[in-house]
Amino acid sequence: MRSKVNPEIKHNGPPRNHRTLYAESARNSGFLPNGASDREVVRINPNKPLRILKFGGTSVADASCMQRVVEIIRAASRESQLVVVVSAMSGVTNKLIEAAVHSEAGNREAVARIFSDLRQRHGAAMTGLIESDSQRNRIGQQMQELFREGERLCEGAMLLHELTPRARDAISSLGERLSAPLLAAVLDESGLGSQCVEATELVVTDSYYGGAEPWMDLTRERSLGRLRPLIQQGLVPVVTGFIGATEDGVLTTLGRGGSDYSATILGAALDADEVIIWTDVDGLLTADPRLVPDACLISEISYREAAELAYFGAKVLHPKTLRPVMEQGIPLRIRNTFAPEKLGTKITPAGCANGGGVTALAAVTDAAMISIGGPGLVGVQDVLGRTFATATAVRSDVLLISQSSSQNDICLVVSSTQAKRTLEALRHEFSHDLAHEKAEHITLDATVAIVTVVGQKVPGMAGIAGRVFVALGRENVDLLAVAHGASACNLSLVVARKDVQTALAAAHREFQLGALASAMFPVSNSGRPIAWAYESERTGSDAD
Ligand code: ADP
Ligand code: ASP
Ligand code: MG
Repeated sequence: MRSKVNPEIKHNGPPRNHRTLYAESARNSGFLPNGASDREVVRINPNKPLRILKFGGTSVADASCMQRVVEIIRAASRESQLVVVVSAMSGVTNKLIEAAVHSEAGNREAVARIFSDLRQRHGAAMTGLIESDSQRNRIGQQMQELFREGERLCEGAMLLHELTPRARDAISSLGERLSAPLLAAVLDESGLGSQCVEATELVVTDSYYGGAEPWMDLTRERSLGRLRPLIQQGLVPVVTGFIGATEDGVLTTLGRGGSDYSATILGAALDADEVIIWTDVDGLLTADPRLVPDACLISEISYREAAELAYFGAKVLHPKTLRPVMEQGIPLRIRNTFAPEKLGTKITPAGCANGGGVTALAAVTDAAMISIGGPGLVGVQDVLGRTFATATAVRSDVLLISQSSSQNDICLVVSSTQAKRTLEALRHEFSHDLAHEKAEHITLDATVAIVTVVGQKVPGMAGIAGRVFVALGRENVDLLAVAHGASACNLSLVVARKDVQTALAAAHREFQLGALASAMFPVSNSGRPIAWAYESERTGSDAD
């Protein structure tokens, strides 16, 4: 059986560097499975750490942003060996998907307009960045070929009036396939030798288009084989984020926002010392700054808390980002491309000992709640097992579940994009059991959101749940469902989508997570001012 994100670990007795120690501390604190640490060390220059730097869409949005990225890479290259992972320029993937959808609907003009805009935008970035005529010609031609490839794929969808998941992936991958060669060329021209590498040569995945999973052992083999020689030559490989390919070489994507995942997959495959996600905020904040304006920087946080925040909606990290590095104890950082002097957030196995209080909040604003119930289900065997199996079969991630076992009533929450297919699959699965009932006993509420409170010991800490309920009650926010205790570090609440901002603000205030609140009224998570508390219950999230 091949490993996915659970790579086979080789025990070659690597030097005990800081990362080996992280892995040890992770194992000791129960975050790592036994035996998962001492990996094959691939360091080319043992005196220089290997870092993966990932730049998101806003970091490469135009020529001036890319120029910043070049300076960050230059500074990092003085002390590290590097592999760069890059996203599409911001908004480009959305436009490509729009073009794909228009193609299926036969809207030729809309498709042409999108490609014309994309040509113009990439052309402008290239002109602003590359001076040498020969480089411009080379990159310009490469871009034209990619645009023609995209147009041909759209043409195919128009002819067939069908957009297959495979074609959709091929079209949506173009953004990264355009930005990576451009960045590599700019680095090269600026004197930092660089080469663009398409991740289709490195990341081997299954064939689940739109959300493929890597085969880690094959990915490791290919990444080492392809990237090690480049690093040995002193070059900086620039790898396309977001994409991979099946063993037969068919392009796949890892899911929206998947370049973060690409970075940690490569970090794990190459046994890197650190993965740094460069983005447009100072780091991981105590809440989404678009929903809670006084959200405050978290200087250090555990893998598990960060993973929960990512899973429950903190867009700054793709939900699967932590998986590959957790197994190897590789630290992750989130830093701001537009304020590189700031240290950002460090994500480590054990995080910051903060006494177990609330660290941060997250929200999934586009959730949908499916309820299964009614008299017809009383006495039906294994409703829960069948529900999970059905959701899994349609690759639906169940974000939260709440069950009344006596009645067999269940409600589960999934993301809106997965709601329709999950609902249909469940209605099909239980159609016999509900034959005498109406199908409406499996119902969908597409207007909900999940608010999640994360902290190292949130479920176990006396009073936290009560304080959340009271704080939300004070603002007249109704709770539609609650999941508490299943995870070691979160409490999740389902609320009406219209209430999500109010709920976040109330909880943020209640736990004094805001920058202003913590500076003016330093209060511990128990509600007592720090000066009164017997132990400091929260220090980590105060730091900036
Ligand atoms: P990139 O283009 O670099 O991948 P994203 O847009 O995917 O960036 O993610 C960064 C955005 O995530 C931020 O601009 C911010 O609005 C949002 N975000 C949501 N929750 C959080 C959080 N808890 N901390 C930081 N940013 C968050
Ligand atoms: N460009 C891809 C997206 O927009 C991947 C990423 O940016 O991480 O989803
Ligand atoms: Mg992102």
